[in-house]
Amino acid sequence: MYDVHSKCADEFISHEEILETLAYADENKENIKLIDAIIEKAKKRKGLTHREASVLLACPIEEKNQEIYKLAEQIKKDFYGNRIVMFAPLYLSNYCINGCTYCPYHAKNKHIPRKQLSQEDIRREVIALQDMGHKRLALEAGEDPVRNTMEYYLDSIKTIYSIKHKNGAIRRVNINIAATTVDNYRLLKEAGIGTYILFQETYHKESYLQLHPTGPKHDYNYHTEAMDRAMEGGIDDVGLGVLFGLDKYRYEFAGLLMHAEHLEAAFGVGPHTISVPRLKHADDINPEEFDNGIDDEIFLKLIACIRIAVPYTGMIISTREGKNVRGRALHLGISQISGASRTSVGGYYEPEPEDESSEQFDVSDNRTLDEVVRWLMEMGYIPSFCTACYREGRTGDRFMALCKSGQIQNCCHPNALMTLKEYLMDYASPETKAIGDRLIEKEVFHVPNEKARAVVLENLRLIEQDNRRDFRF
Ligand code: SAM
Repeated sequence: MYDVHSKCADEFISHEEILETLAYADENKENIKLIDAIIEKAKKRKGLTHREASVLLACPIEEKNQEIYKLAEQIKKDFYGNRIVMFAPLYLSNYCINGCTYCPYHAKNKHIPRKQLSQEDIRREVIALQDMGHKRLALEAGEDPVRNTMEYYLDSIKTIYSIKHKNGAIRRVNINIAATTVDNYRLLKEAGIGTYILFQETYHKESYLQLHPTGPKHDYNYHTEAMDRAMEGGIDDVGLGVLFGLDKYRYEFAGLLMHAEHLEAAFGVGPHTISVPRLKHADDINPEEFDNGIDDEIFLKLIACIRIAVPYTGMIISTREGKNVRGRALHLGISQISGASRTSVGGYYEPEPEDESSEQFDVSDNRTLDEVVRWLMEMGYIPSFCTACYREGRTGDRFMALCKSGQIQNCCHPNALMTLKEYLMDYASPETKAIGDRLIEKEVFHVPNEKARAVVLENLRLIEQDNRRDFRF
């Protein structure tokens, strides 16, 4: 039985409730009166239920879809302004004992080179990432309790935060590792992680069990209830995601929103981020062999519908997507993107030889960070290297309170400009720097509070003239 408050995965992600939701969406997908009422509700920027949002997702009426896109773009601007947060993944290890049928790290893959970064390797990778200008990382690893132990993760996080190379520093470490225990989540929190990210892959239990035939990840309930355990362990920034292409996208969409509703109901705080990965070609994985691939148009509509359904949740797009789709997705709701990513274990310090590739999936955006930053600014976005919120203790409901208070423009906007200025001073090409300096000059006048604006102007001067770094609101 569906129960949003329940701690049992089968109840807060109820299969029957999803089927009823999809039937309701089908019945009403051309019900203009209802669709208009849902769009009106969404305009209040308080979000939508999974049922309401599913009706919009199913709606085939072009005129209504255009309204949905316009609203998604407006909500994105209202909550996130024109800031886009930058990050890079760092793969620590591809040792894995699971049997995930879509992932090249599955245990039966005997020809992919298996690697695990030592602390010395991590040091080299992090210096290479800092030298590009990155300040925020997402750690990634396969599941192997013997090799990829909690101790290894904690050591790695410590190493990463300790490296201060030139003006560089990694100031926020997010982590995407297998579901674990409350005690381990507590240790990750104490180690200073930002967001704990775990993709559900699919909310369809039967498919989940087939797609994860062996290994600890086979346990659907343990995996689906991981965010509850993370929150019990004190991590209040959690990142959800579905791997689109595994099951039917409308089913996944309803499940994803139900998961967000559950976290809000059970812990008073919804997910910090939602990621939207699509299944990609990789080593021995051919996406054509999976039946549920979605085209770009559906993918973009999904993003728009997520944006208006959960306005306070950041949305992440990776280099699984190419420049065009990323560009369009930014308008519709994406607030964080990766740049210059390597999905191999190692590869930032020294590219892997092609015949030794440990990549998790093929990257579709191969631009350098400088190129991505310039591209964003040319479209009028402010690439932000800000990591202030979690360092100032604004996580979970305190971050949501900042969003809701309307103070984001006096806080996030200055932080974005000051961290962009650092990037321009330390890492940008002359062309990118020129574009960025003009952008900052213009954008600084969009800080509404006069006092805050004066502080930002002074800090920008100190960054440029006195080589000072790491200012934040
Ligand atoms: N091993 C961790 C776990 O158990 O959840 C997660 C880390 S894994 C390195 C990160 C994510 O990559 C997975 O959750 C999955 O969604 C995604 N992934 C795996 N194979 C993929 C593929 N072929 N194409 C795109 N994304 C893929």
